[in-house]
Amino acid sequence: MNFRNKLYRFMQGRNGADEFAKFQNRASLVLLMLAILFSILTVAFVRHAMKAAVVFRILYFVFYALGLAMMIWCTFRMMSRNVAKRQKENTTFLYRRQKLRRFFENKKQEWKNRKTYKYFKCPKCGQRMRAPRHKGKIRVTCSNCSNVFFTKT
Ligand SMILES: [Zn+2]
Repeated sequence: MNFRNKLYRFMQGRNGADEFAKFQNRASLVLLMLAILFSILTVAFVRHAMKAAVVFRILYFVFYALGLAMMIWCTFRMMSRNVAKRQKENTTFLYRRQKLRRFFENKKQEWKNRKTYKYFKCPKCGQRMRAPRHKGKIRVTCSNCSNVFFTKT
């Protein structure tokens, strides 16, 4: 039996590399690279600025521990046989990532159109809305909860 088959056999019934595991893998690499950077800074500062060197040494340990923990967590999730639970974690991760992306996308749009549109939220339910600028004080009816309020444009 060749290596590919062995690996396939081994991974059968296990969670494998889902999107969350891929993110964890990248995150652990970033954390470990930062640990290396702080290690270099420790050596660079040790002769001239002892206090800074101590801080960099502590940061090195913190980032090394975090990177290692993330790598172990990632491996555990990939090897796990409790696929249902791991899939649930993955779904939660995807949902949060989507929410975060939408948040930044919205901020980008708001910045781009800041001269033509005033962006605001319904004070009652938090529904996002926009209105053309330079129309003075306007009366707004929320499309979500029908709350009526005034806003300056
Ligand atoms: Zn509302």
